[in-house]
Amino acid sequence: MRIAVIGAGLSGLSFAHASRPFADIQLFEKSRGVGGRLATRRAADHEFDHGAQFFTCRAKSLESLLKDDDFQSAVSEWQPKLVTLAPDSETFKRTWFEPHYVGVPSMTAFPKRLAGDLAISYSTQVQEISRCGQDWQLKDKSGAELGMFDWVVSAMPAPQVGMLFGTKFSEHRSVTEAQLSPCFALMVALRDRPRLNFEAAVVRQSPISWLAINNSKPSRSEPLGLVVHSSNAWATAHIDEEPTVIESQLLDALHQLIDPDSLSIQEIHLQRWRYAKVEKAIGKAFLVDEKNRLAAVGDWCLGNRAEDAFVSGRALAEHLGITLNTS
Ligand SMILES: Cc1cc2nc3c(=O)[nH]c(=O)nc-3n(C[C@H](O)[C@H](O)[C@H](O)COP(=O)(O)OP(=O)(O)OC[C@H]3O[C@@H](n4cnc5c(N)ncnc54)[C@H](O)[C@@H]3O)c2cc1C
Repeated sequence: MRIAVIGAGLSGLSFAHASRPFADIQLFEKSRGVGGRLATRRAADHEFDHGAQFFTCRAKSLESLLKDDDFQSAVSEWQPKLVTLAPDSETFKRTWFEPHYVGVPSMTAFPKRLAGDLAISYSTQVQEISRCGQDWQLKDKSGAELGMFDWVVSAMPAPQVGMLFGTKFSEHRSVTEAQLSPCFALMVALRDRPRLNFEAAVVRQSPISWLAINNSKPSRSEPLGLVVHSSNAWATAHIDEEPTVIESQLLDALHQLIDPDSLSIQEIHLQRWRYAKVEKAIGKAFLVDEKNRLAAVGDWCLGNRAEDAFVSGRALAEHLGITLNTS
């Protein structure tokens, strides 16, 4: 059984990792590495986890995987000094009531470990799927053929699934029910350790919703970097503005929260996440069209957390493992 998986984020990798016993898996990933929104950017000699900041582990399937010897060294708990910040307001200490995990030494360590020796074609954006007899033929942006497959599993954000599968997928209406909002990530490279009495902050009443000293996570090396996330509402309102405008507005907002003299900024970088946070999930672990042999997984199936992406991929693998072995 040849299965093409489009997208090597957590949902695609979780599906592929669990499907190896019963399928011949080929992943296609448009970027140069695995992880999707579990991402780490290297800029000059700084590193920033500029996508997901941490992940929770409520699902038994994820919990038992993380206990596995192969995965223990790729993940660690993060316990930052955490506060709530707002401009011109008192700072409040916050407490997390469950463990929050990060990849070590960077966020991509966990997806890289899941990827293991899976077959992955990088820098390959799947642009078209078409029927060729009983098989699916995939093509990239230049029209080059990527191979023939029995099944195609999409592990992309819902709007991208809609564009690629369209009405070929009997579940296309369900795909359009999911809603995702954007986020800007400002990566601030620092020369010196900032004089702050916190390491991570949830931010209120500001274009900023979150900030974190990247190096407060376990096993991060210096130099220091600050990751600043815009709120999803602010990003939605400013989605098509010039990067320089976004950068200066987020820096202004940062300076309303932190005394500019306490930050020695070396350089800044910006990332726009067009599909960052799931605002409305569809409430099913995955979507599957058995007749056409198409399926979709992703965080947007179940929620808005990295863990939801993992659970979605794993659930489809379990479903297809049973279905394909009994058909
Ligand atoms: C800024 C930000 C902060 C976040 N913070 C947290 C947090 O603190 N905690 C938490 O639990 N979650 C957080 N999340 C959400 C979390 O990152 C996601 O839920 C999870 O990573 C989604 O995984 P996925 O596999 O469903 O999708 P993705 O990670 O988006 O993976 C999809 C993959 O498909 C690839 N792709 C897309 N189109 C194509 C194509 N045509 N051909 C080939 N490849 C393609 C993409 O390059 C990508 O690698 C955050 C996300 C963002 C952006």
